[in-house]
Amino acid sequence: MLAERTTYVSASATMAVALAAQRLRKQGIDVIDLGAGEPDFPTPEHVKAAAMDAIGSDFTRYTPTAGISELKEAITNRYLQDYGVTYSESETIVTAGGKQALYNVAFALFGRGDEVITPAPCWPTIFEQIKLAEATPVMVRTHPEDGFKLHIEDVLRAVTPRTRGIILNSPGNPTGALITEAELNEIADVAAKKDIWVVLDLCYERLIYDKVSHNLPGVLSSKLRNRSVLAGSASKAYAMTGWRCGWVLAPAEVVSACNAFQSHATSNVCSITQKAVVAALTGDQKCVTVMLDEFRRRRDALLETLTSDPRIRCVKPSGAFYLFPDISGLLSSDGIRTSVDFAKELLEKGHVAVTAGEAFDAPGFVRISYATSMDLLEQGAARILEFAELYGARETSNKTL
Ligand code: PLP
Repeated sequence: MLAERTTYVSASATMAVALAAQRLRKQGIDVIDLGAGEPDFPTPEHVKAAAMDAIGSDFTRYTPTAGISELKEAITNRYLQDYGVTYSESETIVTAGGKQALYNVAFALFGRGDEVITPAPCWPTIFEQIKLAEATPVMVRTHPEDGFKLHIEDVLRAVTPRTRGIILNSPGNPTGALITEAELNEIADVAAKKDIWVVLDLCYERLIYDKVSHNLPGVLSSKLRNRSVLAGSASKAYAMTGWRCGWVLAPAEVVSACNAFQSHATSNVCSITQKAVVAALTGDQKCVTVMLDEFRRRRDALLETLTSDPRIRCVKPSGAFYLFPDISGLLSSDGIRTSVDFAKELLEKGHVAVTAGEAFDAPGFVRISYATSMDLLEQGAARILEFAELYGARETSNKTL
């Protein structure tokens, strides 16, 4: 009855967690939702003010599909300032979030018969979009033992004559791991030799905790300028998830294809949002630092509390706002068997919503968002520990991270 493509795409698991939590809340249950992939902070005041001005001055009509020049300039200036890379207006398109940026790009670059490599664990939208474009996702596994580092040998092993693209996300959702400039350098060399596209999802680029050099756009610009794509977003850096604004920076023919798709799908991003994002990108960036400092405090506190149970092992994330602990030490064949069951039971019995690792191609793990207040995090962590005490497997495994 439905089109064939509906058989190979799954709805977002993270959105499903939010719905399940809402359902329990409607029954009057006090659920702590640690599933959310969005900052709990309000959008900064100066950004909201720019949106009010846009409404007040009736800036409420269609704009060009690719976005207003003022915003494209703000985006390219920010990348110039942050990374020293140069993109022109015809190499820039404004999209409805980073999600549409990646969606447009997947459709512009990939098709039937193509293989697209991406590291796992990964954000599910990446492989679902590859499948929607009728290409085949090829997952390259990363491991907690070395902080989910991407190994070039593993990428190389996955390359075949059908490889058309590599999609990378740094900092990564759900692991918070960073791809290093050295790793990307090596990948870019291979990609250049074999005519492979590299798509870099920088959605969490402003949320990196330590002062490390993360100039991935610079690497791609110097090594693979004509075969690389940058996808960014205002969502996480400026607490603007609901405003829906992202962007693509890529060679003009890629942007032009994205523009064609988008012109028949959603047209321009909301005109008011565009003005707000100009203010976000050109205004004082202190608001980003304030959020990052608070995320760091929460990360450290939550990590310490949860890993006080030796059956919960967790890598300290370098960026984004998720812990991705290995909870396989709490599972057993005669108790809670899988991380999906764990997440389900934790929600039903412990009233804490987390996302099972299966959603990220990583059974045995759960993703816990710390984009929520310290008070709720403390309560949530206490409930998780109590749940682990009551229902978790007794034995601790001897695996170490
Ligand atoms: N990339 C990653 C890795 C994400 O986790 C998300 C959202 O959760 C996005 C891109 C897209 O976010 P948005 O569409 O809100 O910009």
